[in-house]
Amino acid sequence: MPNTQQNSLYLNKGLTLWLTGLSGSGKSTITQALYTKLKDLNPKIKIEILDGDEIREHLCRDLGFSREDRLKNIERIGFLAGKISKHGVLVIVPVIAPYHSARELARQLSENFVEVFISASLETVKSRDPKGLYQKALSGEIKNFTGVSDPYEIPENPDILIETEAMSVDDSSNKIIEYLKNNGFLGC
Ligand code: ADP
Repeated sequence: MPNTQQNSLYLNKGLTLWLTGLSGSGKSTITQALYTKLKDLNPKIKIEILDGDEIREHLCRDLGFSREDRLKNIERIGFLAGKISKHGVLVIVPVIAPYHSARELARQLSENFVEVFISASLETVKSRDPKGLYQKALSGEIKNFTGVSDPYEIPENPDILIETEAMSVDDSSNKIIEYLKNNGFLGC
């Protein structure tokens, strides 16, 4: 059935939409749902996704998982997101970003920055374990793994809170779209 709402939604200004949360919390899944929904509403909306694994394979190949390297990783991604979002692009960043200070630095690097906390308990993400990484981290095969052998500092005051244990993927992406509408980023 044709989408009667098509082309009715516009991105008024670029922004960095940073999805922070534990591995397996749902950052990539919600990013994909959001992307599909927005493109369905208007294929012309400019969206760029800066995927954490992809960035580590290219831009941040030289970095590991020490605190210092994690900070550098987030600084580079934040810098890039700021540069791209300036040109009227919605830059979605589904990247763990476990440290409060690094997330604050990323915020400074974009004119418009929205922090989304994708929340799920450690128990939940361990049981989801979509990539089998928790099993490897718990057995010691992977070191410095966020939530297991490395810290995750919970965002105290995120712009958007998504509680994935209580919300479906569909509801989660709708909540983000509503926020973007209510705050003047998306409009008709
Ligand atoms: P991340 O990108 O944060 O590492 P992923 O999106 O790769 O996490 O994996 C999250 C997993 O949790 C997926 O297998 C997804 O289907 C599942 N999941 C279950 N419930 C939810 C929910 N409400 N929101 C997001 N993901 C969910």
